[in-house]
Parts: sequence; structure tokens; C-alpha cells
Amino acid sequence: FKGTALAVLGHPIKHSISPPMHNAALAEMANSDDRFTTWRYFRFDVPPADLSLALDRLHAAGFHGLNLTVPHKVLAFDTIAQVDPTAQPIGAVNTLQRTAAGWHGYNTDGYGLATAVQETLGIQLFDTPIVLLGAGGAARGAAVECLAQGCASLHIVNRTTANREALLSQLAPLAGGIPLQGEIPAEALVINATSAGLKPDDPLPVDLTTLPRPVGVFDMIYNPAETPLLTAAKTHAIPTANGLAMLVHQGARSLEIWSNVAVPVEAMHAAVTAAIA
Ligand code: NDP
Repeated sequence: FKGTALAVLGHPIKHSISPPMHNAALAEMANSDDRFTTWRYFRFDVPPADLSLALDRLHAAGFHGLNLTVPHKVLAFDTIAQVDPTAQPIGAVNTLQRTAAGWHGYNTDGYGLATAVQETLGIQLFDTPIVLLGAGGAARGAAVECLAQGCASLHIVNRTTANREALLSQLAPLAGGIPLQGEIPAEALVINATSAGLKPDDPLPVDLTTLPRPVGVFDMIYNPAETPLLTAAKTHAIPTANGLAMLVHQGARSLEIWSNVAVPVEAMHAAVTAAIA
């Protein structure tokens, strides 16, 4: 391949909708700017044990940028030459930009979350109390973004105490006076960052009736489009949104980093909508 190559690495990767999303954007960008006619976005299935070698080989082969998905985000953070200061507290990277010295890592998931919450629910993270479900990698990225945006308070709800305590001790130095784990106030935004809801018979990650009048429920899961949590929220007349807009906006931010131009977010949204239909 002689053009400018981008790719997503994951394991498994067969079902990733990032390639159609990015290639739709690149096709539209090529209509107005000849430089992008030779840009293509690929996918590679890379087992965790091969990640380091794959990153070296793709750099040597001249790849311009990479996305990382499950299970590579934390592993790559520890492997690459440089991590952007904005990704440092997250401990995970999802976007790599080629430099002469190696890969420079970013994390665009927080931007994707904040932009999607604003776009779909009309809610800013700033000054909003947050109930965050889960304490894994996605929850950590979401928590760092909520604190960076100046949320009113942050309350983590999960099953496993040790995971919650570990996350809270990582977040404490970033909180800067924002209350962690206080009493949950009324009108909090609920963000699901657990994998509960990927399968139809998964249990609910929280009983919404235990929360005082949530202002919205944002589920990071986008497939299925409506998780049992979102169905429950609808029965209580709570505004809902799934994670599709987050996927689009984290991807758009990655493509902006690689291309240095504004990217066609609408084309990306249309492509992912078609891909999961
Ligand atoms: P992890 O495996 O790292 O974290 C899983 C978390 O989910 C843990 O905190 C675990 O709770 C919790 N959990 C799992 N099963 C259940 C259950 N049955 N009930 C309650 N809690 C449960 O996963 P990630 O953090 O990497 O990803 C989480 C989700 O976020 C995934 O579904 C992923 O698809 C989505 N995501 C979406 C993105 C987007 O762009 N829309 C971007 C990134 C992620 P405990 O600590 O109690 O064990």
C-alpha cells in the first residue's frame, strides 16, 4: 500500500466498526482535498502478547496513525515512546500519532464522552453531579474527564469493592475539592461504563429507583442500541442516550489529530449507524 495508512488494533477486531467510520470520513475529505485520496484505514487482529512487536512493525512500515481498542489501551500506554500529558492520568491510550522517534499516545475517549453527553442529552459535565457505573478502564477514562470538566461531584457504583477503592485512590489527587463518594444528590447524570448490558440477560448495573431523580442516563454501550438500563430509564421517563455518539466523537478527534483538519462528523455518524443496522 503506497498511500497514508491508518489502522485499529484489537483482539478480537472482526466486528470493529471503526474502519467503515473512518473510511467514510476519508472519502468525504478526499472530495474537497486531494491529499486525502490516498488515505486508508485498516484493521488488524493483534493478540496482547504481540502488541509491542506489532507497534514496532507498523511504525517501520510507515503507518501514520493507529487506534487501540480492547485489550490494548493500557498495554500500549506502558509500551510507547511518549504519552501526551492529557492521557497521563488515564493510564490508557486509544490514539497513536507517528513521530520520528516512535508513537505519541493520546486518549480521545474523554472528549468523545463529554461531546456526546452534550450533543445527545444537552448536559454539560461541568457542575453536574455524576453517578458513574463501573470501575474498569472505561470508567477510569470517564472519571478523569468528569473531574477535568469540573463536575459537581462524582460517585462510583460497582460490585467489587477492591476495584472501586483502587480507582478512587487514583482519582483522589485529581479531584481538587470535587466531592468523591458523598451522598448522591438529586439530578445526577448516570453514566454506564460497565459491560453489563452487552448481553440481553445481563443484570442491571444499578437500580435506578435508588437514585433521586436522575437527570439522564448515558450508556457507553452502543450495541445493542437499547440496553436493559436504558429501557428501565425510559420507563421512569429519564432522558437516555447510548454510546454511539461517543464512538463517533472519539474517532473524529483521532482523525483530527492525524489529519490536522476539521473532519466530517456527520459522515462518520451515518457510517456507524449503517454498520450496526
Ligand atoms: P472492563 O472489563 O475494564 O470493566 C468492566 C466493569 O464493568 C467493571 O467495573 C465491572 O464491575 C463492571 N461489570 C461487568 N459486568 C457487570 C455486571 N454484570 N454488573 C455490574 N457491573 C459489571 O471494561 P471496559 O471498562 O473496557 O469497558 C466497559 C464498557 O464500556 C464496555 O461495554 C465497552 O463496550 C464500553 N465502551 C464504550 C466506548 C464508546 O466509545 N462508546 C469506549 C470504551 C468503552 P466490578 O468492578 O464490580 O467487577
